[in-house]
Amino acid sequence: MKLPPFEYACPASLDEAVALLAAHNGEAKVLAGGQSLMPMMAFRVAQPSLLVDLRKLPGLKEIRIGADGVRLGALVRWRDILDDRRFAIAHPLLKEAISHVAHYQIRNRGTVGGSLAHADPASEMPGIAQACEAEIAVMGTAGARTIKARDFFQGALTTALTPDEIITEVHLPAWPAKRRWGFQEFARRRGDFAMAGVALYYDEDGRKAGNAHIGVFGVGDRAHRLAKAEATLNGNAVDEALCVAVGEAASAEVDPQEDIHASAPYRRALTGTLAERALRAAAAR
Ligand SMILES: Cc1cc2nc3c(=O)[nH]c(=O)nc-3n(C[C@H](O)[C@H](O)[C@H](O)COP(=O)(O)OP(=O)(O)OC[C@H]3O[C@@H](n4cnc5c(N)ncnc54)[C@H](O)[C@@H]3O)c2cc1C
Repeated sequence: MKLPPFEYACPASLDEAVALLAAHNGEAKVLAGGQSLMPMMAFRVAQPSLLVDLRKLPGLKEIRIGADGVRLGALVRWRDILDDRRFAIAHPLLKEAISHVAHYQIRNRGTVGGSLAHADPASEMPGIAQACEAEIAVMGTAGARTIKARDFFQGALTTALTPDEIITEVHLPAWPAKRRWGFQEFARRRGDFAMAGVALYYDEDGRKAGNAHIGVFGVGDRAHRLAKAEATLNGNAVDEALCVAVGEAASAEVDPQEDIHASAPYRRALTGTLAERALRAAAAR
């Protein structure tokens, strides 16, 4: 289908971009990689009167890795992460998750900021943001602010962003070298959105797991953490019985949604299986 008519602007500064959004009272939309927005416009799910293209904004394509963690500019593309060898040490969980995003062509254009703003419950990046307690930096007419991932995602395709705000950066806290992690997702075909996915990590104290973080995506109306499954993991040595127990806890904790791809009971069972496998992989790593 053809796109509906729209105006187009390609500002050279963040201030200009924010002012354009503010002047259009929620009728304007930011354009990043266009991989979600263009299909939505083609299907008339979105009909913005103005597209504000971010591609000329300075600084939004930067990847910064330092002692405080990883900072990804909003215009960093999936391909940039996969091509950057530093992530094998700086954030292997992120790199593994992004390798599951869509297909080559889409990974060449889709951006970190676009995925967070779009807030698809089945997307990998919101899952990683939740599991890793990411902080999302945004700029609007009221100035800059930072939103914690747990407050950012408010439902399917719904975030805490106001219509005049632009995501500028996401920060993932530092990744200790000995951290154990696992990532599992299930999709009907490689590159499809996940029917369910689990991203988990923990740190070891002696032989016991601590600081457990378990995020799920593709299951409910947004990605989120599983506090009860994390409590099941914390303070225990990881063996086969614990992998099963954490899987069962994850399965019991989710509130799955039913759609044309899977029933709620199937998603519940799948979440448990994926959590169990992710923990087994983390322990073996
Ligand atoms: C066939 C297909 C398969 C896909 N499979 C997957 C998959 O398996 N996993 C996955 O995670 N994704 C998948 N995607 C989505 C893809 O990763 C998108 O690129 C991504 O979700 C959106 O990023 P974008 O840069 O293209 O954003 P755009 O499409 O440009 O924008 C998406 C939305 O975010 C807003 N936005 C964009 N950037 C910002 C910003 N900086 N600040 C504020 N708002 C902003 C836009 O206004 C729009 O509302 C798929 C897409 C397609 C077409």
